Amino acid sequence: MGNKTTFDFEANIDGALEDDQLRKNLRKAMDILVDKRRTVFPDSTYLEQLRSAGNAVKRRALKQLPQLLEQLEANCTKNGIQVHWAEDTNEANRIVLDIMQRHDAPAIVKGKSMVSEEMHLNHFLDEQGIEAIETDLGEFIIQLNHETPSHIIVPAIHKNKEEVAAIFHEKIPDTPYTENVEELTAIARRVLRKRFAAAKVGLSGVNFAIAETGTLLLVENEGNGRMCTTVPEVHVAVMGLEKVIEKLADVPPLLRLLTGSATGQTITTYVNMITSPRRPGEKDGPKEVHLVILDNGRSRMLADPELRQTLLCIRCGTCLNHCPVYVRIGGHAYGHVYPGPIGKILTPQMEGLDQAGVLATASSLCGACGEVCPVKIPIPDLIRRLRNESYDQDGSAVVEGGGYKKNLAETLVWKGWELANRSPLLNEMGTRLAGKVGKRMPRVGPLKKWTRVRTSPRVAIASLHERARNEGVSDE
Ligand code: SF4
Repeated sequence: MGNKTTFDFEANIDGALEDDQLRKNLRKAMDILVDKRRTVFPDSTYLEQLRSAGNAVKRRALKQLPQLLEQLEANCTKNGIQVHWAEDTNEANRIVLDIMQRHDAPAIVKGKSMVSEEMHLNHFLDEQGIEAIETDLGEFIIQLNHETPSHIIVPAIHKNKEEVAAIFHEKIPDTPYTENVEELTAIARRVLRKRFAAAKVGLSGVNFAIAETGTLLLVENEGNGRMCTTVPEVHVAVMGLEKVIEKLADVPPLLRLLTGSATGQTITTYVNMITSPRRPGEKDGPKEVHLVILDNGRSRMLADPELRQTLLCIRCGTCLNHCPVYVRIGGHAYGHVYPGPIGKILTPQMEGLDQAGVLATASSLCGACGEVCPVKIPIPDLIRRLRNESYDQDGSAVVEGGGYKKNLAETLVWKGWELANRSPLLNEMGTRLAGKVGKRMPRVGPLKKWTRVRTSPRVAIASLHERARNEGVSDE
């Protein structure tokens, strides 16, 4: 995945659009999530104030990111948390592997973490003979079915309960078929309890890392995150370097925005704050806590004043829920870890425009993502910027792989368009020609995909000036 040679976005989109069940499942789930968010933020003035506060907190953090990361490292270390830096996903994977090998651990229990997906950690560990066990219910379901997450918050959002029932029945030995959601949950719980009890190492993501106290904050609803971070002897937390914030007082607006936008809750069932390994006299908790801080292109994003806004993201997923493209095709069609609007701006910057720039084309630029984003990321502006950079070959493209789309034919077409619109004579000739052929939009060739499903524009046979002249009205 993520490689130009193996990723066929158009084929993925066609496949998703032809899957009626997938579209029904997505539509239903998205309507619920959108409604829940609307209900939890009934007061639009309050929501706007909150969004501005969230934006300000994250902007302030980005402004002093290097210092905050150093402060986080110093305070975590003081608290007994071992901090590791990873420039790319290979390095991050190696760090996790090294910890696993030092503890002779054959398996790792995982809470939900998009950064671990970004690292393709499960696949990497599998190649080393180590089992990665997903314990978030949605992740558990898709892992059983050998799939990747379809949504950054609700990984199995594309499945309905009948499909989940069939997966459990087929993949978990001695499991009778049931569509009863409580029974399905109990089955997952029964399987996972044993894995928690046996695991030496647990892994989690991080929602916010607080520099002033060296605290790792994690939200979740199922309690599996707390099991992963307290039952095994070793806890490994992985985070992108943009997750650091300055102080504890910054948490309330961000937490409210995150939970309200992600799941329509005022607060999640669990809010875990981890500040150290188990201390003398404490009855539970890991003996060792490691924090892996991943860069993977984020420093590059930080260097650009406009693109750095990508790093404001708190991974709430609400831009996905409101995106007319995502709602129709789901996450897998994007062929990369981060789908939807956030994926369209994040992935091309991480992997290069030549590898993933096509994602930025999957937008109608309706602006819905920017309107709902809790931290006010101007997603449509950044999509436009990346699209421009895709064609930019004069050396000014900032994003790696810039200019990959530039080609002579298209350059000539646009030059012609520019010329026709600068010259009154050519413009008039073009308008006359359009009046004659405009209704006959080509339904073959490269324009076919566009024209076969759209009504032809009605180009006037005579221009306004001509009509005025014909009717004896002065057009001076
Ligand atoms: S871009 Fe905004 S809306 Fe989308 S996941 Fe990030 S914070 Fe949420």
